[in-house]
Amino acid sequence: MTKVIECRKAKLAANCDQVFRAETAEEAVRLAAEHAKKDHGLEPIFELFELFWVIMRDE
Ligand SMILES: [Zn+2]
Repeated sequence: MTKVIECRKAKLAANCDQVFRAETAEEAVRLAAEHAKKDHGLEPIFELFELFWVIMRDE
């Protein structure tokens, strides 16, 4: 099962179409957090990780 996080669902920015796929939930969250920092200037705080966990889906 692949873990998928769509940035669009996190509503960090308007019209961000980045999608992150990983073998594990931890890795998917890590990739998404890296993207949030780099492209949206968001610090990797607890609430951000929590948000990614909520919107994560299986594929
Ligand atoms: Zn984004």
